[in-house]
Parts: sequence; structure tokens; C-alpha cells
Amino acid sequence: MTDIHDVLVLGAGMVGVSTALHARMRGLNVVLIDRREPGEETSYGNSGVIDGGNLYPVAMPRDVPTLFRHALNRQTASHYHLSALPQVARWMFDYWRWSAPEKLEETARVMRPFFAQAVETHRELMTVAGAERYFRQTGWLELYRRPESLAAQDRRLALSREYGIDNVKLTQAETLELEPHLKGSFAGTIWCKGADTVSSPGGVTKAYAEAFVKQGGRFVIGDAMTLEKVTGGYRVQTADGPVTARQVVVALGIWSKALVAKFGYSVPLSAKRGYHRHYKAAGNAFLSRQVCDEDVGYVLCPMEQGIRLTTGVEIALPDAPATPVQVERAFRSARDLFDLGEPVEAEPWMGRRPATPDSRPVIGPAPRHEGMWFAFGHGHWGFTLGPATGKALAIAMQGAPQPLDLSPYRIDRWKQQA
Ligand SMILES: Cc1cc2nc3c(=O)[nH]c(=O)nc-3n(C[C@H](O)[C@H](O)[C@H](O)COP(=O)(O)OP(=O)(O)OC[C@H]3O[C@@H](n4cnc5c(N)ncnc54)[C@H](O)[C@@H]3O)c2cc1C
Repeated sequence: MTDIHDVLVLGAGMVGVSTALHARMRGLNVVLIDRREPGEETSYGNSGVIDGGNLYPVAMPRDVPTLFRHALNRQTASHYHLSALPQVARWMFDYWRWSAPEKLEETARVMRPFFAQAVETHRELMTVAGAERYFRQTGWLELYRRPESLAAQDRRLALSREYGIDNVKLTQAETLELEPHLKGSFAGTIWCKGADTVSSPGGVTKAYAEAFVKQGGRFVIGDAMTLEKVTGGYRVQTADGPVTARQVVVALGIWSKALVAKFGYSVPLSAKRGYHRHYKAAGNAFLSRQVCDEDVGYVLCPMEQGIRLTTGVEIALPDAPATPVQVERAFRSARDLFDLGEPVEAEPWMGRRPATPDSRPVIGPAPRHEGMWFAFGHGHWGFTLGPATGKALAIAMQGAPQPLDLSPYRIDRWKQQA
């Protein structure tokens, strides 16, 4: 096929699929390309929280006792490969700087308008895709075992109120009215009511991709790394032969770094790896929403396959062998709170959060390549922010008035070669 299309979207995770669908809904002739079927990498295995009430980014601890505990490498919330440290040291230092209290407040202020669109933009695509069966409009719970951990949230809750975020502090007894199968002793929870959750993040991503095809979009298996600049646009090699378009969107999650490097762009993107494993619920126990055990650092997620335990951060090179020690640690702690039975799969799943040190994604035009756009680096919240990103980018590609200020997300916030 030698036709020239309007847009090539590289990467069919939540970010790429949402961008392709929004561009198609605006009448553009779009080809979506992935080396796998849609929604089979990071967008498959996450916790399924659409966190419209998100305020502060996930920060690196800065006090010495907590840092020391993490350095011992026995935590559930974090794990690291010693061998990766020389390559990620600069990124870690920048992440540490961006975890200072005043920097977190700055990030919250910048990102808030974006998160505020998350639920609405997901529900819009949910309706287009007929994906209602996956959605729960029940919020999620942050569970605090220790009273001092719960009390430490008061400042954030006060700021949340200023932003109009709907969070409610609950006692254990009030929590049990919502989730009667939680057990053990804990100080209380914060019910984050400004979130939706889903029972299959991969299912939702695939449903949006199917809607894209139903609306006349084209999905093709291909290798994004073959992308080249040609007269009048960009070309990529696919299973259907070369495909060319005037504009291209790079939405390859963690793999974006290698592709943009080919075009001379440098981006501090590191993999915050994470794992999951599903377990059968014992007896008739169930959960109605995701519950994060904040003092330990994992999430209990009711999914189609069973209760998915998702882990915190593992600092490692993206393709280093899997070391799922956090899954076993999370499982041991989770049994304090919920009756978990047998694991569903033989091995845990591993994914790679595409993380920048300032916890902001990269969204916007490539400064030196007309018609090239970036949409990656959403870290902990790419499932949440995919549809809002896709909408903003589709609007930007058409040069229409933009409701979201994209300037904080430009790639040239880091020094680029001239
Ligand atoms: C354990 C865990 C829990 C999480 N929980 C949440 C949560 O509750 N809520 C939330 O919002 N976020 C969550 N996240 C983060 C979220 O999953 C990611 O931010 C998001 O999935 C990133 O989406 P993406 O589309 O950018 O990347 P991906 O989903 O990784 O998609 C990138 C795509 O690019 C394709 N690709 C790569 N290289 C090539 C190539 N050469 N050619 C063609 N295609 C290629 C891949 O096959 C893939 O389909 C979690 C992540 C993890 C690991």
C-alpha cells in the first residue's frame, strides 16, 4: 500500500490506542502500529486505577532512616538491582531532587488539570467502545495500618479539598461497610472517590483499539524501530509492507527512549518495573474496588482473573531478568488483610513503568522534526492519563484550540542537541 495517511501512531498501549482513537474520531486517516496485539505490555498488567483525584506524584523517600531501609533491599514497596545503579544513578539523583516537598507541590499544581480530565476522558472512550462492563465507579481505598501514617495524610487531604478532590477519611468500621471481606487490624482508609477502577486494564485497552478499527482506523503489526523520515512524512515497515503518513506519534512507553534517540533526542526515561500475580479469593471473599496497603506498598486489585496483587517499584534495567521477590513479600502481607487462596498463574507478570525524574510525561511536538509528536513517559499513571493525552494530542495535531496547557510536557525541558 503506497497511500499516504494522515497519522501513524507507534505503540498500541493505552496511550497510543487512545491517541489513535481520538485522532480517528476527529476524522483523521490513522494507522496504529505495534509489534504485538494492542494492550499486551504495561497497559495489560497494571492495577486498573483511573486516579482522577491524584495530587502528589509517587515520590522517592528523602529521610535517612527510610532511605536506609530501602537500601537494605528487603522492602515490599521497592527493590533494586545493584548492577543497574551505575546506569540509573543520574536519573535517581534527579528523581530525588524532584521528590523535595516544594517540587512535589509544583508537580501537583502542573499535573492537576490533566488528572482532573482522567475519569471524564475515560468514560467518553468507554461509551464509544461499549466497554462499560469493565468499569466500576466506586473509587479506590488507600489503607493505612498505622495511625501515624493515616494522620500524616491530613495536609494532603486539606490541599485536596482546595482542588475539589473528593477524598473521605474512614475508620476501620466504616471501611468494613464498604469492603466487608477486609480483615485484620488497621487504622483506617482514605476513600478516593474521584477515581474509577476497572476489572481488566488489558480488556479496556483492547476494547478502545477495537472501537478504533470499527470507526475505520487500521491496526497493523510492525516494527516502530524501522521508522524513517521520507519526503512528505514518515515511513515504517509493517507486516503489510511499508506504511507512510504525514505525521507520526511516538507512544512506545519505555521503548520510546530508543526510538527518539535515533532521531537525536535525549530523554531521561527509566523503567520503574512492577509485577503482578493473580490469586483465587478464598471461599466467597470478594473486593469491590482496589485497595492499596500503603504502609507495606502493594495493591489488591479485583480483576477478571482473580485478585491481582501488584507491586511497587523495582529499579532495574528494562530487559534485565525478572526478580519478582516483591510479589512473595506482598502475598505474605496481603493475607493479613484478605483471604487469598492459590495463585492463578505459574509465574508473576512483569511490566515497565516509563518514568521521568520529574514525574511528568513527554507530550507534544518534536522540536526538530515537523510532523513528529511524542506521547510517552507517564510513569505510574499512564493507564489513567492515556485518554486525556490522546485527546490533547489529537487536538494539537489539528492545530485546534487546546484546553490543556501542554508546555510543561515538552521534551526540550531537558537540553537537546541543536
Ligand atoms: C504494577 C503496575 C501497576 C500500575 N498501576 C497503574 C494504575 O493503577 N493506574 C495507572 O494509571 N497506571 C498504572 N501503571 C502504569 C501504567 O501501566 C503505564 O503508565 C501505562 O501502561 C503506559 O502505557 P503506554 O501506552 O505508554 O505503554 P505500554 O502499555 O507499555 O505500550 C507501549 C507499546 O509499544 C509497543 N512497542 C514497543 N516497542 C515496539 C516496536 N519496536 N515496534 C512496535 N511496537 C513496539 C509495545 O508492544 C506496547 O504495546 C502501573 C504499572 C505497573 C507496572
